[in-house]
Amino acid sequence: MISGKRILIVGGGIGGMAAAIRFAELGSKVTLIDIDPEWRVYGAGITITGPTLRAYRRLGLLDAIKEQGAIAKGSTIFRYDGLRLHELDEPALEEGLPATGGIMRPKLHRIMQARVKALDIEVRLGLSVSALDNQHDGVDVAFTDGARERFDLVVGADSIYSGVRRIAFPHMGEAQPTGQGCWRLSIKRPPTLESGEIYLGHQYPAGINRCAQNMVYLWMLTPHERREQHFTDEELFVRLQENLADFGGNIAWVRENMTRDDWINYRPLAAVLQPTPWYMGQIVLLGDAVHATTPHMASGAGMAVESALVLADELDKADTIIAGLAAYQARRFERCRHVVETSVKVGEMQLAGEPPEVVGGALGAGLHRLAGEY
Ligand SMILES: Cc1cc2nc3c(=O)[nH]c(=O)nc-3n(C[C@H](O)[C@H](O)[C@H](O)COP(=O)(O)OP(=O)(O)OC[C@H]3O[C@@H](n4cnc5c(N)ncnc54)[C@H](O)[C@@H]3O)c2cc1C
Repeated sequence: MISGKRILIVGGGIGGMAAAIRFAELGSKVTLIDIDPEWRVYGAGITITGPTLRAYRRLGLLDAIKEQGAIAKGSTIFRYDGLRLHELDEPALEEGLPATGGIMRPKLHRIMQARVKALDIEVRLGLSVSALDNQHDGVDVAFTDGARERFDLVVGADSIYSGVRRIAFPHMGEAQPTGQGCWRLSIKRPPTLESGEIYLGHQYPAGINRCAQNMVYLWMLTPHERREQHFTDEELFVRLQENLADFGGNIAWVRENMTRDDWINYRPLAAVLQPTPWYMGQIVLLGDAVHATTPHMASGAGMAVESALVLADELDKADTIIAGLAAYQARRFERCRHVVETSVKVGEMQLAGEPPEVVGGALGAGLHRLAGEY
């Protein structure tokens, strides 16, 4: 049904590109727009869990991710001082699929952008939408450059502060701060680190994940203090090094080897599962625009790619666009609810100082549930 339909995708990030690729493969005429004139992404590493790898395999991009990122048999949980506790329960989901992995975000974007270009998808940059008007057989779109066009379907994949959501979904609200902030540092690989490591039992949970042959990223969660200004580069370096002071194992190695040239970022966390309906007429939301989560389960990107696959799949099977959108929402809501609610809950347990086995158990159980088909 979706072949030949004109589809506008607003937001060329992980979910938007995944949707563009699938729709183009099914024969739709896709236009992808992004507000960033240079279509960039910042330089962090990203964890690619088993379910995310499975979704990327269905998108045909698993081999490129394996080549340009890093894959692992699983992750290990340590006490913050470096004492090894146990393996995280992360089973490989399918024959030939690694249990987990990581990649630098710019590399993941380049892999997806290359596929978008290979499919000859029309990409317009430095552009957004200023008005969306549902008609009985399509959507009249006003662009921020003054142009107007009619599309059969508009997909809002423009992330947590979605402009499409603000224009067309008055029953939805903004993401709420969860009280934690996330520090990230990209650095060369500690010589003894092979797979993912998670350090619990300290007031600041932290971890290290490989994202290339010789690169890792370190993450740390701290209670968020409200500030008037962003941290300067020097403050980021000094504060993160101080936060790592009590840690052993490979985190101690990172603390002693980090330099001011390494990429460091701090971001307060926010999350929201938007209420249904996730579609209004022939406008629909996916990814962080409708299920923005915290990084605790490292599953936000995976959920965005899965939502893109399911949206394309259901629209292809359905007799009408509205029936396809309803089927998409029905298949996605509970699974995305599980990810957002479990992630927020794990953050609350960390803020309350719950012991590592309790937090690790909740995380493992949450990840295990995601192993099921979507
Ligand atoms: C600190 C942190 C760490 C994380 N770590 C992980 C992890 O390890 N693993 C994981 O799976 N997930 C992780 N996530 C979550 C993951 O990054 C997101 O869930 C995922 O990127 C969502 O994809 P998306 O397509 O919805 O949005 P994005 O990938 O953010 O893409 C949105 C795109 O829309 C564009 N855009 C924005 N506004 C507009 C507009 N008005 N008009 C047009 N274009 C617009 C942007 O330029 C961007 O290109 C993390 C999140 C955070 C905050």
